[in-house]
Amino acid sequence: MKCNICSAKIEQTFLEKINGAYMKVKGKQKVICPVCQKQYSKEELLAKL
Ligand SMILES: [Zn+2]
Repeated sequence: MKCNICSAKIEQTFLEKINGAYMKVKGKQKVICPVCQKQYSKEELLAKL
């Protein structure tokens, strides 16, 4: 699984928990790494996805 913004690899643990965050954009599930999550606001992330 890769970050949908910077393409960094996102580690996935058991029970489909990820080291990052899920965001739903236009009905599609996107994943964001913790770095992007810290770097951008929710509005900025939505604009980039
Ligand atoms: Zn990222």
